[in-house]
Amino acid sequence: MIEIKNLTKTYKNGSIAVTALREVNLNIEEGEFVGIMGPSGSGKSTFMNIIGCLDRPTSGTYILDDKAIAKMSDNELAEVRNQKIGFVFQSFNLLPRTSALKNVELPMIYAKLSSKERRKRALEALDWVGLGDRVHHNPNELSGGQKQRVAIARALVNNPSIILADEPTGNLDTKSGNEVMGIFKKLNNEGVTIILVTHEADIAQQTKRVVTFKDGEIIKDALNIGEEMNS
Ligand code: ADP
Ligand code: ADP
Repeated sequence: MIEIKNLTKTYKNGSIAVTALREVNLNIEEGEFVGIMGPSGSGKSTFMNIIGCLDRPTSGTYILDDKAIAKMSDNELAEVRNQKIGFVFQSFNLLPRTSALKNVELPMIYAKLSSKERRKRALEALDWVGLGDRVHHNPNELSGGQKQRVAIARALVNNPSIILADEPTGNLDTKSGNEVMGIFKKLNNEGVTIILVTHEADIAQQTKRVVTFKDGEIIKDALNIGEEMNS
């Protein structure tokens, strides 16, 4: 599904160049659940931005579902992003004075679905993440874990094939974090590919494969055997 070859990303600010990713090679198959680890500045955000079609590599190739992403125009990138990718963030990024239901409907407004269809799908998604009884609550009336579940419902409504999550449990206590990981596992069991950045080892342990970056390179790529046996 994802095929990355010799991928390099260099940021240029005037005469200063920073190489954030250096000749990275990685394949991710459909249905995988991958944790991304590594110290600050190791290239994780840059990697996620490229996978998410928010940015392009400086050199190398990125193939997503047989499409060469590195060569696409901005409009083509935006189309692939909207059709295939759902994003979940550390800080939830919900509209504060807007109900859970309306927050989840938002991506479908951009996708030009009818209001009836939007409402139906948003209710289904909120029910699926266990918030069927909170649909008219605003984010400030919800706990951190509930907010993140609204954000996951929002990421799901356009049926993406990949979910990209950047530190999704970073603002949550252990219990809420594990609940959110439970939702990701359930989603992965339904066949959705998940790529999740975390700096917490016990969160990474709940994925099926952990890829570790350091100084713009992959220094480790290992299956979580225990997780494989439990699932
Ligand atoms: P994280 O919290 O994931 O480690 P960072 O704090 O490294 O993320 O970076 C957050 C965002 O800021 C990145 O997505 C990147 O686009 C931008 N950024 C990081 N470092 C620089 C920099 N030196 N100059 C400009 N933008 C940067
Ligand atoms: P991480 O997410 O692991 O913290 P990043 O991908 O944010 O790492 O950053 C990798 C390197 O690239 C860092 O040295 C960072 O300062 C640099 N960097 C990231 N974004 C930018 C940017 N927009 N402009 C310049 N340098 C950047």
